[in-house]
Amino acid sequence: MTMETDPGFIVPLEEARKGAEEGGVPIGAALVDAKGKILGRGHNMRIQKSSATLHAEISALENAGRLPAIAYKGATMYTTLSPCDMCTGACVMYKISRVVIGENSTFVGGENYLKQKGIEVVNLNNTESKVLMTAFIEKQPKDWYEDIGE
Ligand SMILES: [Zn+2]
Repeated sequence: MTMETDPGFIVPLEEARKGAEEGGVPIGAALVDAKGKILGRGHNMRIQKSSATLHAEISALENAGRLPAIAYKGATMYTTLSPCDMCTGACVMYKISRVVIGENSTFVGGENYLKQKGIEVVNLNNTESKVLMTAFIEKQPKDWYEDIGE
């Protein structure tokens, strides 16, 4: 699969750029339902909101609001970076069907656990996602390691 064939990935990239502009960790996400409707979108807000939990995927879930379990059936979580253990756990708990990631060269999260739980994982190996993360890690390594609990 390429980015061009996956319009759901354009939103997370927009969100990641927004995060970078705000001086935050440049990771974006979107939760898209089985019919392709965007339920929620968001970006990492740890720095902006001094939050412990607002990673991009959690922001997207939060912005989608409270939903019945059936809303997540067949849904895809698009995220510009391989999801950490916390976000992986949220995807597993809500039984999201697929996780599409921008890249996993700067960080590898819970991909194996997702697969074990029967969740499809697709890596788009997207250049812009990588460029955004690489620049952030170089500029603010401490903020990055704090983001992933290290
Ligand atoms: Zn996370």
